Amino acid sequence: MPLHVEHVPGDPILPERSSVVVIGGGIIGVCTAYFLAAKGVQVTLCEKGKIAAEQSSRNWGWCRKMGRDPREMPLAIEALRLWHDMDRTIGAATGFRRSGIVYLCKTGDDLEKRRSWLDLVGRAHGLDSKLITRDQAARILPGLAGPWAGALFTPSDGRAEPGLAAPAIAEAARRLGATIATQCAVRGIETQAGGIVGVVTERGRIACDAVVLAGGAWSSLFCGNLGLKLPQLKVLSAVMRTAPLAGGPETSVSGTGFGLRKRLDGGYTVANWSNNICDIVPDTLRFGPDFRPLLKLHSDSIRVRVGKQFLTEWRTPRTWALDEETPFERTRILDPQPHAPILHKAQDAVAAAFPVFHDMVVAESWGGAIDVTPDAVPVISGVDAIPGFFVATGFSGHGFGIAPGAGRLMAELVMGETPVVDPGPFRYSRFTDGSRPQPSPLA
Ligand SMILES: Cc1cc2nc3c(=O)[nH]c(=O)nc-3n(C[C@H](O)[C@H](O)[C@H](O)COP(=O)(O)OP(=O)(O)OC[C@H]3O[C@@H](n4cnc5c(N)ncnc54)[C@H](O)[C@@H]3O)c2cc1C
Repeated sequence: MPLHVEHVPGDPILPERSSVVVIGGGIIGVCTAYFLAAKGVQVTLCEKGKIAAEQSSRNWGWCRKMGRDPREMPLAIEALRLWHDMDRTIGAATGFRRSGIVYLCKTGDDLEKRRSWLDLVGRAHGLDSKLITRDQAARILPGLAGPWAGALFTPSDGRAEPGLAAPAIAEAARRLGATIATQCAVRGIETQAGGIVGVVTERGRIACDAVVLAGGAWSSLFCGNLGLKLPQLKVLSAVMRTAPLAGGPETSVSGTGFGLRKRLDGGYTVANWSNNICDIVPDTLRFGPDFRPLLKLHSDSIRVRVGKQFLTEWRTPRTWALDEETPFERTRILDPQPHAPILHKAQDAVAAAFPVFHDMVVAESWGGAIDVTPDAVPVISGVDAIPGFFVATGFSGHGFGIAPGAGRLMAELVMGETPVVDPGPFRYSRFTDGSRPQPSPLA
């Protein structure tokens, strides 16, 4: 994997017992482990590959409240509050900067859509988001070119460095006593009288009282082997980074066909705001009715594709015994190829909006599989059918920014403490009790 991620060495010895085992070393798993360890809980995090090698290092690095689904807003506000103090709290650099985010709007209709969100969601939550004119946008975004109808701007939103953040938080969790096990796939759980008593990993068993599944795009497969339905699909996104580039904006910005973020290395992470691919796979058929409203709502930005991924996933075992090699051990790092035409379009769009990007040197490009739920809201919840089993997944393209809040909330739910926000919108049972939750047209 070429993408740079700060290396987190795994602890060589697995404990025989840990109060809580967290499955998955992405930003959600490491934040959960951190907040548990900060409470003095004995926690072991098991990661099948490397810390933050999947979505958590491949994302844009935006940390935003702006444009959020109303159901996520209280958690997003808490997450940004935690990000602001994160480097001081953990004593290490995550690259967080409170540099603001701007959504540029090409047409009056785009601007009206942003106005609706501001009126119905942003103001209701007391955010500092505001509509600005093109000239005001140009003062925040030096070098802006082209006609724009206006923009939505949130000064208190920010950015962090995906290659640094989850590794730094994992190391902080370890300093508080957590065990970090890498190259350590969890094959399944063990229960007694219906409740959790342990996990079985490829490196042996760990006795425990609670398990948090933070498995990103693998969570549905893991749940399936336990007989639990977790509707989840993968949406493929393509991203590139430029070599250091002078004269571009400090503030993260999206416009028609592009999104960008300034990096600590002086380059930019650039991607296509409105072009993603959803491969038809057996899960598309399995969860089709659950996802129809979401795919319809985003039909202009998600292209459905038929290809060899169907066969690859068709051949992936969906059930296994705990003494067998599992799909988690066969794919240590999910590393999809970026779709080059999507990146070329983003390159053209960003150069039209910011002419300084005309001569940008693309230093690297990569793909990422975003795990989405039918309502594009995550699951952060216990599972009633298996006391002691918790799930934190399905962050639907928003999980990097919301992770500190999600980790705090998950730790509180595991410990049975008063949660920082109402966990109701994140309950797992909404997918099994006939609620048929819908995506928000405002987000
Ligand atoms: C291209 C792209 C751009 C994005 N941009 C943004 C953005 O700007 N802002 C934002 O907020 N969000 C963004 N996101 C979304 C964000 O990256 C994700 O929501 C977030 O990283 C999810 O974190 P996670 O820990 O749930 O999953 P992951 O980071 O995918 O981690 C899951 C981990 O679990 C491990 N695992 C799975 N199964 C097992 C098992 N059985 N045993 C052991 N380990 C296991 C995997 O190996 C993996 O490391 C973007 C995502 C992508 C792909």
